[in-house]
Amino acid sequence: MYRTGNKLAYVILLIISSCTLCYSQQDSLFRGTKVGCISGDCQNGEGAYRTSGGNVYTGHFFNGKFQGQGRLIYHDGDEYEGQFESGKMSGQGKYIYHDGTIYTGQFANGRMEGQGTMEYASGNRYEGMFRNNVKSGTGEFWFADSSHYSGNFVNDRMDGQGTLNYPNGDKFVGSFSRGKQNGKGIYYYHEGNRYEGEFVNGNFQGNGSFFLNDGSHYDGGFKADNFSGFGIFYYANGDVYAGEFDNGTYNGCGIYYYENGDRYEGDFLNNQSHGTGTFYEADGSATEYHYEHGNIVGEGVQLASMYSSGHSPLNPAGDNTTGTAVHNQEENKNTTGETSANTIGTTTSKQENNQTEKTENTTGRNSSVTNNTGEICPVCKGKGKIYKPEIRKNKMVTKDISNGIGPRNFVTYTVNEVVRPAGYVTCGRCGGTGKINDN
Ligand SMILES: [Zn+2]
Repeated sequence: MYRTGNKLAYVILLIISSCTLCYSQQDSLFRGTKVGCISGDCQNGEGAYRTSGGNVYTGHFFNGKFQGQGRLIYHDGDEYEGQFESGKMSGQGKYIYHDGTIYTGQFANGRMEGQGTMEYASGNRYEGMFRNNVKSGTGEFWFADSSHYSGNFVNDRMDGQGTLNYPNGDKFVGSFSRGKQNGKGIYYYHEGNRYEGEFVNGNFQGNGSFFLNDGSHYDGGFKADNFSGFGIFYYANGDVYAGEFDNGTYNGCGIYYYENGDRYEGDFLNNQSHGTGTFYEADGSATEYHYEHGNIVGEGVQLASMYSSGHSPLNPAGDNTTGTAVHNQEENKNTTGETSANTIGTTTSKQENNQTEKTENTTGRNSSVTNNTGEICPVCKGKGKIYKPEIRKNKMVTKDISNGIGPRNFVTYTVNEVVRPAGYVTCGRCGGTGKINDN
């Protein structure tokens, strides 16, 4: 497209040189054709003129320059027909490139400027504003594959706010830069899913949300069209996964919250449990497992602490109790410190108090130990094992099957899979012995 301007400059130069009869003799000899005015009045009137470069103008002249309606056929096959002013394309005109591309519209100062239509040889078509020979400002672009863009252009490319409709019915609305989706936008899939968020060079990248037809949605990081970094996936059934993602799969540390109040905390690798994972049931019981690529290795262990504390891990009261205990210990430390620094009399008094407490404690423990020695574990009822029902979770599967040029084919669906088959786990209260011997 820049060629148009160059040609015009060339033409103008030749007009000037021809007017002083200073055309290139060598060129004319080589071509064997006359250079300069071929016929008619090339000063003020209708005439035909051949430039030294081999371009031929037919049309109106004024003061020796192309002016008014005219037609210029370039030596390389390009052709312009339209208005001229002071030797340059200006006003309404039609420029036909030798490859078949046609521009119809406004010109100014030898360049495409203003409203115009470009019908490309490839089948693409543009209708909109031009500036300095290139698409610039608002316009519409119809791609040969029937994609359609409506929006802003800068320097011949989609740039600024725009809407891109894909042949399959997908649609993007948002920001473009240098011909690609860059910045914020919304990608609507024809089947109803949509992505809202940041784009980098046409890819879902940065922070975004993905809404699925089934009512589930994802908030978090994206990279190269897929879930990446930290994200939260809200399943339609009420389950929630919060954790790390990589390339669309669970990868790293994550927590899976079940709708019923249970939750699973653990390590993931390529969408599978891998490493250590713990199930916390809504009633407060917790079972720890070790995984390798989704499979449980060894036997699970029901964590005892949850039973002894009597608090659900979700219950903040449990945390408070721990906090209070630590606080008391600190107070005791302070008391001891003060004791050593204080008088003997005070120390004695405190020792007496301590002794009284110790005696009480000892009495309590002794009776307790006596009563509990060899007692059947209340948690597993002496079996040493506890039955745990099957646990399933929703697993997300995401695939980008687009070719990077056409519409996206970012497929996301969920699979409900068993992550813990039904079975027995070791009782953490008695360590699997079935008996409580200590504390
Ligand atoms: Zn037990």
